[in-house]
Amino acid sequence: MLPFKLIYDDRYDLNLGAHVFPSQKYRMIHDKLLADGIATPDDFIAPQAASDEDVLRVHTQDYVHKLKTGTLSHDEILRLEVPYSKKLIEACWLAAGGSILAGQRALSEGYACNIGGGFHHACTDHGEGFCVIHDVAVAILRLQSDGAIERAMVVDTDVHQGNGTAEIFGGDASVFTLSIHQEHNYPFLKPPSTVDINLADGTKDDDYLAILEKHLHTAFEHFAPQIIFYVAGADPYREDQLGGLALTMDGLRQRDALVFDYARRNGAPVATTFAGGYARRVADTVTIHVGTILAARDAAIQGALRSK
Ligand SMILES: [Zn+2]
Repeated sequence: MLPFKLIYDDRYDLNLGAHVFPSQKYRMIHDKLLADGIATPDDFIAPQAASDEDVLRVHTQDYVHKLKTGTLSHDEILRLEVPYSKKLIEACWLAAGGSILAGQRALSEGYACNIGGGFHHACTDHGEGFCVIHDVAVAILRLQSDGAIERAMVVDTDVHQGNGTAEIFGGDASVFTLSIHQEHNYPFLKPPSTVDINLADGTKDDDYLAILEKHLHTAFEHFAPQIIFYVAGADPYREDQLGGLALTMDGLRQRDALVFDYARRNGAPVATTFAGGYARRVADTVTIHVGTILAARDAAIQGALRSK
């Protein structure tokens, strides 16, 4: 049994078939957590879909209308890079609801993990790069609207820069955005995050961890978040098909531990979402995401021990 909740729904699977985005990974993570005895069925809770009101705090009326009525243009669908369907829209609204719930649970319990979400390329008026709506932004603006928080930090370790996050929160001093990513990779236009860490191709574990630690240290000197949304991409992995960094599984686990450690030492709850992961073997992507949950578990147990 885990010391925090996992948010999951079978409908997170976008049913994309033979697509480079393995959206069956959500179900595989769920199944592996149970099969390996890491989680029990009681650890999982199901989200409700985000409301349109929640989504409209982030996205334009025009874009949301097109999504709901299936009236995106051909070019807009091409930019999404996933086929449009009613099921896709249902899955995205549900994932956004999952990130809201992860935020709420993290505030009350210290940690929570949405086994989905992290759609950090979605912008206010369009979607791109497999990302339709920005679940993390929807969650942050909902928590702010409820008066549950004022300040949030987004720590994004996906190999691709969080351009949607940067665009949505650019000019919003209440949300600190940190993205550590491969410089020479998608998206080619990178609107500025609060902190962008542009890494060279082939960056390995030791260099990655040192530079991440340095920037986390500085970030927490300048900003005191009441919640962290951790966008834990699996695609900095050296075997990733869409990434050009060279982290090992062990390095990725240390990365997660570092983020949770900084959060714990600064007293900030963490809502984790998963973003990309395109390893040649889908099982590797699943193992990396499960590793993030194990790192959260270790941090939660350590935090509880220290507070006794
Ligand atoms: Zn990515």
